[in-house]
Amino acid sequence: MSDSSLMNADAQFYSELMRAYFDSTDDAIFVLCDEMKFLACNRTTERWLGRSEQDLTHHNQRRPITELLGEDYDAERFSACFRRALEGESVSFETCICPGPALKRWVEINISRVNIEAGRMVIAVARDISERKKHLATIDYQQHFDALTELPCRNSLIEHLDNYPQDSGQSLTLFALDLDRFKEINESLGQQLGDSILQEVARRLQRLTDSAEGDFLARLGGDEFALATPGITMRQAYAIAHRIHKAIAKPFAIDSGRIGIDCGIGIAVWPRHANHPGELIQCAEAAMYTAKSEKAGMCVYDASVSQTSAQRLQLVSDLREAINAAAIRPHYQPIVSMRDKTVHVEALARWRHPQQGYVSPEAFIHLAEETGMIGVLTSQIINTAFQECAGLLNSGAIASLSVNISAYCLSNTLLVSDIRNGLKKHHIKPASITLELTESAIMSTLPDARATLDDLHDLGVNFSIDDFGTGYSSLSKLKQMTLKELKIDKSFIMDLLNNENDVAITRATIDMAHALGLQVVAEGIENRETWRRLQAMGCDYGQGFWLCEPMPIDALRLWQGVAA
Ligand code: C2E
Ligand code: CA
Ligand code: CA
Repeated sequence: MSDSSLMNADAQFYSELMRAYFDSTDDAIFVLCDEMKFLACNRTTERWLGRSEQDLTHHNQRRPITELLGEDYDAERFSACFRRALEGESVSFETCICPGPALKRWVEINISRVNIEAGRMVIAVARDISERKKHLATIDYQQHFDALTELPCRNSLIEHLDNYPQDSGQSLTLFALDLDRFKEINESLGQQLGDSILQEVARRLQRLTDSAEGDFLARLGGDEFALATPGITMRQAYAIAHRIHKAIAKPFAIDSGRIGIDCGIGIAVWPRHANHPGELIQCAEAAMYTAKSEKAGMCVYDASVSQTSAQRLQLVSDLREAINAAAIRPHYQPIVSMRDKTVHVEALARWRHPQQGYVSPEAFIHLAEETGMIGVLTSQIINTAFQECAGLLNSGAIASLSVNISAYCLSNTLLVSDIRNGLKKHHIKPASITLELTESAIMSTLPDARATLDDLHDLGVNFSIDDFGTGYSSLSKLKQMTLKELKIDKSFIMDLLNNENDVAITRATIDMAHALGLQVVAEGIENRETWRRLQAMGCDYGQGFWLCEPMPIDALRLWQGVAA
């Protein structure tokens, strides 16, 4: 073989090697002339573009690469980068190639100039980043949308508010709403049903949302939703809040029937309540908390209560800590027979806050209810009270122990087992336990409430109807329940001596209760005269500061000794 043929063989070998290398990579590699037309390309390029190298480089059919890109925008960008590459820069950028409807893909391209004898040309290496883009899009979706309801999530609402055009001359109203008792519903009906209720809530709210008018609906998390509406008056805002309320209040169909759900709505308006639209969420949520805690249905933001909302959050977190540490304990207040001075006691929860001292149960019981902690708290009170009072009950020193049961606990199976186990463990007779339930708890329409009341009744414990006169109850329903007693609310008793109305109501209540075969307890007796008046009316039991304030178990034992 001659030298030249050896050299030719070498050149061919290298050329084939280069070609093989060129074709073996998953990246698209192609060479463009200074008019952006194809001079050469590898297999991956062919595959991506759906054309053979021959087609692409055939001098009659050569078309600039920009015709194969996704959008005009991509073509312009490509041209600009191409010009920079021709100047000698090495340029990387992302673009979309779309030579046909099914061939769209995102690529990251690096282009640079090569100078060879044949002239100036540009070599491009493109990497498929469609998967990465898809992944990023998913992450973006997850960051902006809620998977369950497919509504925008809190982040989206924040962006929406932050980007609200403040020079539009239109105000922006934000409604924040939170479902009542949703946690309990979720726990008692199961998460699946809870989820479908949330989806239905989203659908109902969507029907009230007019995106064409600039409305923006979002799920803020859990059972909380928000609707932003531009350019409405305060009157229109009230009307919308009413509509939201009505839409949510319509019963939800569930397997075992229908369930009604209430909600609290907070309303805040930019620029009236906030300097910037982005501050609206905080304001609307603060108003919503007020609406819920005051059972007001809806509430407009008031700067003076936002302080309390921060305090409330702190209190919730302190409360959680206290419950975890079992630091909330029962005190006991005697309930004394007006005939024979027999003593019964009522357990009342007491929380000594490390900084604030004793916090009233009026303040923390409803927080525990709203945040779903009431179940655990009630368990703790029952267990401790049973344990502490077992001795006094079994010796007959006290005739019975009453505990307060919130309506929320009735949809929780924990209650029945707590009481059953407690009775067994401390050898307490079921007849010496009384459960105090408010009228609304007894009238509860929560799905499992009825069943829980039946189970409790089967255990043999007594029921007492608490705070009588402050709520609504139907006599026929009361008659169906096997109740032992009725407690006249202290608001009627405390002013009894000065208020003839209270006297009339109290007298009528005592007579009605006796006609139904119930015993009557008057709570809130603060002086001897009130005790006497009630005694004369035929009241059966009295409870109040005049007799004794609620006290810890040791004090109760001493008091019991003195009273005996
Ligand atoms: P309640 O069940 O009506 O309890 C009676 C309340 O009246 C108690 O308030 C008691 O300290 C107070 N009281 C008794 N005698 C007098 C009096 O002569 N004058 C005045 N002004 N008040 C009197 P407390 O302990 O602050 O409890 C408030 C409410 O918190 C209770 O009202 C009850 O609804 C709730 N609560 C307390 N402990 C528990 C509990 O363990 N579980 C549940 N679910 N609720 C509880
Ligand atoms: Ca009570
Ligand atoms: Ca009461």
